[in-house]
Amino acid sequence: MAYKCELIPVEIDKVDTKYRKICTALPVPESIPLFETLQKYEPRSMGMQVPVIWDKAEGFQVYDPYGNCWIDFTSGILVANCGHSHPHVKKALKDHIDNNPLHTYLFATEIRAKLVKKLVEITPANLTKAFLLSTGSESVEAALKLAKLYGLRKNPQKKGIVSFTGCFHGRTMGSQMLSPSEEGKNWITTLDPEIYHIPFPRCGGGECPWGNDKYVNCGKVCFEKSLAQLQEKSVDLKSIAAVFIEGFQGYRGPIFWPNDFARAMRKWADENEILIVVDEIQSGFGRSGKLFTYMHYGIDVDIVCCGKGISSSLPLSAVLARADIMDIPGPGQMTSTHTGNPLCCAATLASIEVIENENLIEASAKKGKLVHDMFKKIQAKYPERINMITGRGLVHSLFFVKPGTNEHDIELENEVVLRSIQKGVMLFITNNGSVKICPPLSITEEALIDGIDVISESLDKCLAKS
Ligand code: PMP
Repeated sequence: MAYKCELIPVEIDKVDTKYRKICTALPVPESIPLFETLQKYEPRSMGMQVPVIWDKAEGFQVYDPYGNCWIDFTSGILVANCGHSHPHVKKALKDHIDNNPLHTYLFATEIRAKLVKKLVEITPANLTKAFLLSTGSESVEAALKLAKLYGLRKNPQKKGIVSFTGCFHGRTMGSQMLSPSEEGKNWITTLDPEIYHIPFPRCGGGECPWGNDKYVNCGKVCFEKSLAQLQEKSVDLKSIAAVFIEGFQGYRGPIFWPNDFARAMRKWADENEILIVVDEIQSGFGRSGKLFTYMHYGIDVDIVCCGKGISSSLPLSAVLARADIMDIPGPGQMTSTHTGNPLCCAATLASIEVIENENLIEASAKKGKLVHDMFKKIQAKYPERINMITGRGLVHSLFFVKPGTNEHDIELENEVVLRSIQKGVMLFITNNGSVKICPPLSITEEALIDGIDVISESLDKCLAKS
């Protein structure tokens, strides 16, 4: 059963360690009226996480107003890559607020010019232009428009888009149509018939679309079989304009691409003038130990969508692309009221500077090895309950299954998350049977180890009583 947010305070053992402090019942009785207000005035879709008030967040810790403090393993859903409220980001924002306009629309600002230049300078050389927006979904919508326009310019029949099973690209109409899952898009009454979904090459863990239950390095074969299957459904592969794919699949992941799949897809795209669009909204800006996760796979791509960790805080997203793609829409045909909002630009530029100055991408890669080793030990203890661990850099998941099956154990996941929060480690509910950790890249090794130990002990407790 999926998690349901209960507003009933539970007395729990007090915690007081170097990085964690829990000194009240949870949820805190005094906080209940605030959650009741939210429940009354917001849609119920907003109530999916554990009822904790975030009053302050600094570095890798979050605090409520009642003296409780957590090690943050969420980064506020993979946003705070450089750490929460980093002093450099706060200073950039304060300086900006004191001296500069808070909004300018398309009218030029120095900070926007600095940011787009910086983005193009730090990203692979073939991505020569940056278009700024506010949310991740918007950047996917813009990439969809660019990809379709690019295809139509080549040939009026070239308008097909390919995406993958298990993907998540956002909740707006176009981004939602990229997802094959009916759940979430059943409100769209007329689907784009030229968006095709093919199996993601999920090797091993009982998830291979072609029935292999072990990782057998079959990404290329998988991709070729998927294309053949599309052709059998009378799809003309020449009509495909672009492929949309996440740097790693995040919704039920992280699940990475096999390298031979990446090479096969690039070759096919080159031979058929097809764009590869990578959604790095969740996976970018050092999260997996590289600037972008696709850089692990050794290929170039044509369009990159960024969001979340690009700013570590304020809402800014970006599309990065080659100039010949980006400049297809004429003046005024691809804009947004809040494009390059000056405050969001200031926060983003400062966050990128922190990531560079504190070598957080390298740090993410290094700490990822530590997480992997610790997760392996947890899995070795409960091999029948953890059927897979995945991750790179500072994004890793433990996947729980019911004993003797490959069925995701959502209840166990919910219980481990709740217990860990009660012990001072902030996690989010995934509702898919996995515990996913993605702390700020600036977390210390000591805090990382402490937090994972808490998850391990929570699992021990949950399994001891079952
Ligand atoms: N793509 C991916 C891979 C995501 O993880 C998300 C957000 N979870 C989105 C797109 C949508 O971003 P936003 O919520 O900022 O619109």
